[in-house]
Amino acid sequence: MLIDYHIHNHFSPDSESDTRKIVKKALERGIREICITNHPELHDPKTGKDIFDLKKAKKIFRQIKEEIREIQKEYPQIKIGFGMEMGYHKGWMQNLKKLIEEADLDFVLGSVHVVSDVIISSHLFADDLYSKTDEETAYGIYFKNMKELVQWGHIDVIAHFDICKKFGHKFYGPFQPEKYKNQILPILKLMKTKGIGLELNTKCMKNRCKEIFPHPTILRWAAEIGLEHFTIGSDAHKASEVGRCFNEALRIAKKAKIRTLSTYQKRKPAKHTI
Ligand SMILES: [Zn+2]
Ligand SMILES: [Zn+2]
Repeated sequence: MLIDYHIHNHFSPDSESDTRKIVKKALERGIREICITNHPELHDPKTGKDIFDLKKAKKIFRQIKEEIREIQKEYPQIKIGFGMEMGYHKGWMQNLKKLIEEADLDFVLGSVHVVSDVIISSHLFADDLYSKTDEETAYGIYFKNMKELVQWGHIDVIAHFDICKKFGHKFYGPFQPEKYKNQILPILKLMKTKGIGLELNTKCMKNRCKEIFPHPTILRWAAEIGLEHFTIGSDAHKASEVGRCFNEALRIAKKAKIRTLSTYQKRKPAKHTI
C-alpha cells in the first residue's frame, strides 16, 4: 500500500496547497493513505526566525483537524491522517508537548531545522551559516540537536534525518555519513529504544543535494540495528509534489533491507510490508 506521510497544506506558512488538490493528486498516483503534517511554528520572513505561539497553534490545529474531517467524508477511498511536523527548539519544548497532547493527533514528525539559531532548511539563511562555519562544527551541532530531540522523545518519527546536507553540500561537498557515525549510531539506537521511527524523505532527490534523506548508508544502519518503524514522505508543499520519487525511494529502502513501512492512527503504529 502506497502512503505519503509528510505533506504540508495551506495551513502551513510555507505552503499554499489546497487539501482537495492534494487528495486528488494522491489518488491519481495510487496513494491510499496520506498524512497532513503542518508546522506549529510560524515563520517571520523579516527576521528569518520562527515564532511559536501556543494559543495560535492550538487554534490552527483545530481548524486543520476540522477541515480533514470534512474532506475525509468527501473522499472515503483514501485515508487522511491528522499530523504535525514539529521543529526542535530548546525554549519551546514544554509548550510543544502541551500542543501535541491536546491536539489529538494521529502522527507527529520531529525535525531539526535550526543550527545555532539559523534556519538551515532555507537557503536564505543556511548559505550564510555554512559559508562561515566548518563542516564538522555545523553538522556536529545539527546531530547534537537531533540527539536532544530524540531524548525529549514526544514524537513518532524523525523527519529528513540529514537535512543538514540540503544546502551544506554546496560548501562541503557530498555528505559522508561515516564521518558522523559516532554521533548518528547512538541516535538511531536511542530511537529504537524509544520506539521512534525514521522517515524516508524524497523532497530533494531531484534538486538541491539530489539525495534521499537520510543517506542510504544511514538507512542501512537503521535496518541493521533493528529499528522498528519507517515512514515515507514527499514533504510536498504543492499538490504536484505528492508521492514524488517514491518508486526510487522504495528501491533504496529495499536495498537497505527495510521490509516494512508504518502508518499511524492516534499515534499507534501499524506495519505494512513494502
Ligand atoms: Zn522539515
Ligand atoms: Zn516538512
